[in-house]
Amino acid sequence: MLEQKLREVIRDIPDFPSPGIIFKDITPVLKDATLCVDIVNEFADKLKDVDIDAIAGVESRGFLFGLMLATKLGIPFVPIRKQGRLPYKTIAESYKLEYGQATIEVHEDALDAGTKVLIHDDLLATGGTVVASAKLIEKLGGVVVGFSFVISLDFLNGAGRLRRFSDNIISLVR
Ligand code: 5GP
Repeated sequence: MLEQKLREVIRDIPDFPSPGIIFKDITPVLKDATLCVDIVNEFADKLKDVDIDAIAGVESRGFLFGLMLATKLGIPFVPIRKQGRLPYKTIAESYKLEYGQATIEVHEDALDAGTKVLIHDDLLATGGTVVASAKLIEKLGGVVVGFSFVISLDFLNGAGRLRRFSDNIISLVR
């Protein structure tokens, strides 16, 4: 079963990026092309009843399966990036981190008003990153129709912060 396989392959890195944090490292997953295809097929299956026009992926690990899924579904991919990385005109959204704040951006012409957007990232923790992403999509006039993650850390209750945008919250490993 895919969830079991992912549990075996995703690796825990203690004390990264700072002491006391256990980081879920997905890079071993990327070495297994069959597993990557299985992941994308599972996302597509779980989302088959959701009407999606475009996928927005969050830098940088959200680009990996976000673009693969968009390609599989034959729809556009929209990169959401950290401040200062996108070359064209952007709009920005800032959000709080445990210490300090972060800003993410999207190109102002990334999508047309009314576009139904799935937001994808590798991992859901507190939800701060994807809430800011959802706000960016709404500022562009897009409609957030769901969220997908490879991993969600349910004990942080990130999903609770996403429900005001959409109830379609897909995670392959909890
Ligand atoms: P949140 O904003 O939900 O608190 O944090 C999620 C963001 O931080 C995602 O963009 C994710 O890539 C990154 N992140 C936080 N912790 C981890 C982790 O343990 N593993 C991975 N792969 N990403 C993490």
